[in-house]
Amino acid sequence: MTTYKQDKNLQVPKEVSYVTKTLENSGFEAYLIGGSVRDIILGRQPKDWDVATNARPEDIIKIFTKTFYENKFGTVGVVQEDASFENLKVIEVTPYRIESGYSDNRHPDRVDFSTKLEDDLKRRDFTINALAGHIKDDAIHEIIDMFGGMQDIKDKSLRTVGKATDRFEEDGLRILRAVRITTELGFSINTETQEAIVSCGTLLKNIAMERIQVEFSKILMSDSPIIGVNLAQKLGILKFIAPELEQGIGVEQNQAHSFDVWEHLLRSLQHAADQNWPLEIRLAALFHDIAKPETRRFSHETKQWTFYGHEVVGSRVTRKILERLKYPKKTIDKVTTLVRWHMFMSDTETISLAAVRRMIVNVGPENIWDLMNLRICDRIGTGRPKANPYRLRKYKAMIEEALRAPLTVSTLKLNGKELMEVLGEAPGPKIGYILHALLEEVIEKPELNTREYLEQRSKDLNKLSIEDLKKLGELGKHKKEEVEAENIEEIRKKYGVK
Ligand code: ATP
Ligand code: MG
Repeated sequence: MTTYKQDKNLQVPKEVSYVTKTLENSGFEAYLIGGSVRDIILGRQPKDWDVATNARPEDIIKIFTKTFYENKFGTVGVVQEDASFENLKVIEVTPYRIESGYSDNRHPDRVDFSTKLEDDLKRRDFTINALAGHIKDDAIHEIIDMFGGMQDIKDKSLRTVGKATDRFEEDGLRILRAVRITTELGFSINTETQEAIVSCGTLLKNIAMERIQVEFSKILMSDSPIIGVNLAQKLGILKFIAPELEQGIGVEQNQAHSFDVWEHLLRSLQHAADQNWPLEIRLAALFHDIAKPETRRFSHETKQWTFYGHEVVGSRVTRKILERLKYPKKTIDKVTTLVRWHMFMSDTETISLAAVRRMIVNVGPENIWDLMNLRICDRIGTGRPKANPYRLRKYKAMIEEALRAPLTVSTLKLNGKELMEVLGEAPGPKIGYILHALLEEVIEKPELNTREYLEQRSKDLNKLSIEDLKKLGELGKHKKEEVEAENIEEIRKKYGVK
C-alpha cells in the first residue's frame, strides 16, 4: 500500500468535506472513494460523491440528522443541513464492506461490514477506482493506493484489482464497465484485463438488460462513442448488446458512400456526439441504416446497390433492439420515428413546402428538428464534410416557414360567428370585409386586439357603405399579405437562402 501526499490542490466541495469532517469529529474514519477520487485527480467533474467509513449505518444516521435512506448495503444518503449550500448533492456514505460468494456471476452471496479500509478497496473493480482520498481543509491531501491505481492513471491504463478473470466471474457487468470507463476517460485497457474481457464475454448473458442499457448509454453519451462501440466490437462484447450492428461490417454501398454500413453508422453517431446532441439522436444515428444489409439488392439496370425500404425495416429492427435493451417507451418511440423518416430530403430534387408540411405531420412537430439533425449526422457519416450546405439551410427555412402560425383573421379576438351575432348580420361578403378591416388595424396596433374594442369598432364599421367596406377589407387583405411576405423573407434571410 502506498500513501501519496498531495501537493496539488485537489479541491472538493464543502458539502463533501463537511460529511467527512463530521464523521471524524465523532471518532470515525472517513474517506472519499471510488470514481470521484479518480475524476478529481484527472481534473474531471465527478458524477457522484461516495464516502466510505468504519461507522455503521445506525451511527451514520445518529450523526447526521438529515439522512434520508438506507439500502441493503448500508449506504446512507446524507443531505447537507445548511441550506446556504447551493446545488446541493446527496453524498452517499457507506460502511466498509467485504463482499464474497458471487455464485451467480452478478451479486455477492454475502456482504459483511468491516472495520478496515483495505477490505473495502479490495472489492472494487479497477485499480483507478480503488483509491481512497483523505480530506483536509476542503481538499484531498492524502491518497491511499493499494493496487497501483496512481501509476495506472499516469499511464492511462485500465486494470482490474487482482486477477481479471476472477473479477469478471464475480460480476460480469465489470466487463462492460471496463469498456465504458475506458471510453469515457480516453484510456486503454491493460493486456491481461483485455484478454479476460475476450475470454469472459459470455458472462454478460447473465446480466440484466437494464444494467447493460445504462452502460451502453454512457458509452454513447461519452465524447468518443465511435471508439467505445468499436472497442466493444473488437473485444467481442457488442454481440451481447446489439449484434445486429455487426451485420453491417464489410457491407459496401454505392459511390456516394466511402464507408461500409458499419463505419457509416459509427461516424454518424460520432457526429451526434461532436455536436453534443442528446441520447435519442445518438441512438437514431447509430441505428438508422441497421436494415441496409438485409434490404440490399443489386440493380443490373443501374449497376448500383439499392436499399429500398431499409428505413421501414430499420425502424422495426431498431424497436426490437431498444425493447430488448429495456429503454423507456418514450425513447423507443422517438428513435424509431426518426429512423423511419430519415430518408426525408435525401433526394436531390427540390422539395415542396407541401411535402415539408406532410413530413411534419408524419414525424410530429416535436421531432422535426431532431430529424434534421439526424440527417446532418447521416451526411457527415458518409464523409461529406460540409456541415451546412445551401440545400440544408433551405430545408431548415422551409420547416420554419411551415411551422409558423400564419397571419389570418383567426388571430382576431373576435371570430366571424361572434361578429355576426354582434351585428345581427347574416353570412356574406360584408362580414369578410369587416374582419379584414379589423385585421389591418390590429396588425398596425396589436394592443387593439381585444374583444371590447373589436365589438365597438365593428359596429362603427357596419355603418359604412358596402363599397367603402369593400375598399377597407381589400386594404386589410393586402396589408396581411405584405406582412406575411416580410415574415417569410426574414426566415429566409436568417438561413441565408432565397
Ligand atoms: P461514474 O463516473 O459513472 O460515477 P464510477 O467509477 O464512480 O463511475 P459508480 O457506479 O458510481 O462508478 O461506482 C462507484 C464505485 O463503486 C466505483 O468507482 C467502484 O470502485 C465501485 N464499483 C461500482 N460498480 C462496481 C462493480 N460492479 N464491481 C466492483 N466495484 C464496483
Ligand atoms: Mg461514481
